[in-house]
Amino acid sequence: MSVQQEAGVEGGTLEVWIDQDLCTGDGICAQYAPEVFELDIDGLAYVKGSDDELLQAPGAATRVPLPILSDVVDSAKECPGECIHVRRVADGVEVYGPDVE
Ligand code: SF4
Repeated sequence: MSVQQEAGVEGGTLEVWIDQDLCTGDGICAQYAPEVFELDIDGLAYVKGSDDELLQAPGAATRVPLPILSDVVDSAKECPGECIHVRRVADGVEVYGPDVE
């Protein structure tokens, strides 16, 4: 089953947020999915809003566009800080990331 199909099974729209307290600043996420991740001048990664601005409030989340879902999921899997969290918008349940049970 593809990542996109899994997401459908999981219940639709997903969002992603980064715990900057654990970010190592290596930039892997920004290489995999520059549409939603970017390093700021403080050396930490942040998610980007719909008009490309960095969302710097702690715990700020942005929607995951379906065409790049697999890139975002790969980022979460490869993130050395284990600090990329992908969750369902509908109920806030994490579906990819360190808090998946
Ligand atoms: S992959 Fe993880 S640790 Fe690396 S810059 Fe992105 S959020 Fe930070």
